[in-house]
Amino acid sequence: MVDRPLTLMAVHAHPDDEATGTGGVLARYAAEGIRTVLVTCTDGACGDGPGGVKPGEPGHDPAAVAAMRREELQASCDVLKVSHLETLDYADSGMMGWAANDAPGSFWRTPVEEGAARLAELLRHYRPDVVVTYDENGFYGHPDHIQANRITMAALELTGMTPKVYWTTAPRSMMQRFGEVMREFGSDWEEADPAETESMPEIGLPDEEITTWVDTTEFGSQKFDALAAHASQGENIFFLRMGKERFTELMGVETFVRVQDATGAAVPENDLFAGLR
Ligand SMILES: [Zn+2]
Repeated sequence: MVDRPLTLMAVHAHPDDEATGTGGVLARYAAEGIRTVLVTCTDGACGDGPGGVKPGEPGHDPAAVAAMRREELQASCDVLKVSHLETLDYADSGMMGWAANDAPGSFWRTPVEEGAARLAELLRHYRPDVVVTYDENGFYGHPDHIQANRITMAALELTGMTPKVYWTTAPRSMMQRFGEVMREFGSDWEEADPAETESMPEIGLPDEEITTWVDTTEFGSQKFDALAAHASQGENIFFLRMGKERFTELMGVETFVRVQDATGAAVPENDLFAGLR
């Protein structure tokens, strides 16, 4: 057997993605004694500033936003009991089409090989048994999420390591439910700029294409508190408005597509570590 703790590594784009996408599995596996490593690729400087000020608006200071979000990220990691937080500190590229996409130092403009080389060092250091990131569309088309997928897959190839690899996803059946709850809690999501939403690919997958369903309802409270640590970000506020119980009901099962596996564990599976312990 291995001479190191079983290890989960999650590679995310921005501070707060760890909570929405994988807060449940981070909390659950930490509670099971598994070492959890979070890699956050960007500084989140294109997020909301204090008081909800949006990037480009007067009073939005990207450096101050990055500093605030770094603190929020640490608070979220404390709640989720993340063992190791690693930040790559690339500049947030903003939504697709923003000028920030091509700003110097943006994650989106960083050559994949460069980001992959840095991530490969972390892979060699932690030797994760399970790696989680986004799908090739970055789940909803955000450039930094797409880039996180690209550097992760390239880094794995560089190291030749063969952990179980997962892409986060959402079942279509749940997306419908999600839409209903969003309307109930008055999200302004649907009033988003049509030019932005038009270019978005359909998100989620048909239920039968999902390989891995992990029940994290027991950790719903931690996931909620982790998200609450990122309350400066407008899009998180609607989740927080739901309250813990409704939030856990909606977000309590985390779903993934397994894209690499050397264990032969049968799918569908209900544990990222199936076949490893
Ligand atoms: Zn993000």
